[in-house]
Amino acid sequence: MENIGFLGLGIMGSAMANNLIKAGFKVTVWNRSPEKCAELAALGAQVAATPAEVTSSCRISFAMLADPEAAQAVCFGPGGALEGIGAGRGYVDMSTVDAATAREIGQAVCDKGGRFLEAPVSGSKKPAQDGTLIILAAGDRGLFDEALPYFEKMGKKSLFLGEVGRGAQMKLIVNMTMGGMMAIFCEALALTAKAGLDTADLLEVIDAGAMANPMFKMKGAQIAAGAFDPAFPLKHMQKDLRLAVALGDALDQPLFSAAAANESFKKAKALGFSDQDFCGVFQAISS
Ligand code: NAP
Repeated sequence: MENIGFLGLGIMGSAMANNLIKAGFKVTVWNRSPEKCAELAALGAQVAATPAEVTSSCRISFAMLADPEAAQAVCFGPGGALEGIGAGRGYVDMSTVDAATAREIGQAVCDKGGRFLEAPVSGSKKPAQDGTLIILAAGDRGLFDEALPYFEKMGKKSLFLGEVGRGAQMKLIVNMTMGGMMAIFCEALALTAKAGLDTADLLEVIDAGAMANPMFKMKGAQIAAGAFDPAFPLKHMQKDLRLAVALGDALDQPLFSAAAANESFKKAKALGFSDQDFCGVFQAISS
């Protein structure tokens, strides 16, 4: 069986690589902080010393990294993924980045004779663990077809959206929606408390009507309990809002609500809540 690579074993990457190993694929992993490789090594993964070691030994390598800076560092840095890319090798970057970053990495991979697909995902820690992510791919169609057996173990739906950049844009638009929903939801919860109303009553009313959704149900309970362990780190939500607002700038599309939501998440970061779950923005809004 062919060896596949996985770079970046954070909350999402560790769960996704785990599903590939459980499905019986031979997986070689790398993470900047090497201790995060131990759990997957115990399940049978090979551990590489550098991203280049992964990409040079695997026909297809997946990456799941924090942000544009991390995606660039892992691709272009010393011992980076690009050094190991040779003719025909596939590089599938599943990190949430902006379209320009995806194009820059994609161009560099293609210039070395490799093939590139961006494939950011919708869905959080639990869907990553359950293999039910929604994969928003764009770039090399042949690589998409080849990666489908792996995507099918990581996700429940895989879309091919066209040229590189369209996956990043779709992902940012989806997360802009989520960030905006979370900000107004937290404002509603804060106002409920200030008015002396019962939070549980608000959650029950919302859940009974047309605004009901799994996110409000799950995160509402977490906020009420003051439980902010990260499934989706707040700093990544702010990064996505920042990049979505920049996309709006570039396209002259006013984004009044997204820009306001971004300010709430910026305030939450300034207050020290970066590594909490993104529903921790409640603490900044209610303070
Ligand atoms: P995370 O737990 O913070 O993991 C981030 C990963 O990036 C870690 O492997 C980290 O390595 C690595 N990294 C950060 N900076 C780096 C650098 N300069 N050089 C090399 N590696 C670096 O994040 P996550 O929740 O797994 O999210 C990963 C990506 O998926 C992000 O783009 C996020 O926006 C997106 N996403 C997340 C969710 C979610 O619900 N969590 C859902 C959909 C999409 P270390 O372990 O060494 O820090």
